[in-house]
Amino acid sequence: MVAYDGPLPIPDPVTRPFWDSLRAHAIQLQRCAACGRFIYYPRPVCPSCLSDDLVWTPVSGRGVVHAFTIPHRHPNRAFAARAPYVVALVELEEGARMLSNLVDVAPDPADVRVGMPVEIVYDDVTEEITLPRFRPR
Ligand SMILES: [Zn+2]
Repeated sequence: MVAYDGPLPIPDPVTRPFWDSLRAHAIQLQRCAACGRFIYYPRPVCPSCLSDDLVWTPVSGRGVVHAFTIPHRHPNRAFAARAPYVVALVELEEGARMLSNLVDVAPDPADVRVGMPVEIVYDDVTEEITLPRFRPR
């Protein structure tokens, strides 16, 4: 396990199933039983129709880059030490968009493009927490 010194999420009753699915390397997102939309980030009610009938549902972990940026500086030491890196808004095949990092690609605008197919990478940063990142596929 690579030493990780960045911020960590604090799972709560709403988000715990998401973090547990990542730890199991089998991502699940909430799906609204009323309108069918997949939801990210986890929350108590559907942002589209306000239904609270949300069902944890396995998703593919595949998607495309919807937008990205490449920070070269950051005020937080943990992020600054890794700069430059790719921050990407990934649109999953199921429609939800996740903000994450791209890995296994140069942090260079010439090597990343909108529409690039990507897949999830499970980054086990601690015994309890696995972060979702994405790589080209
Ligand atoms: Zn809904």
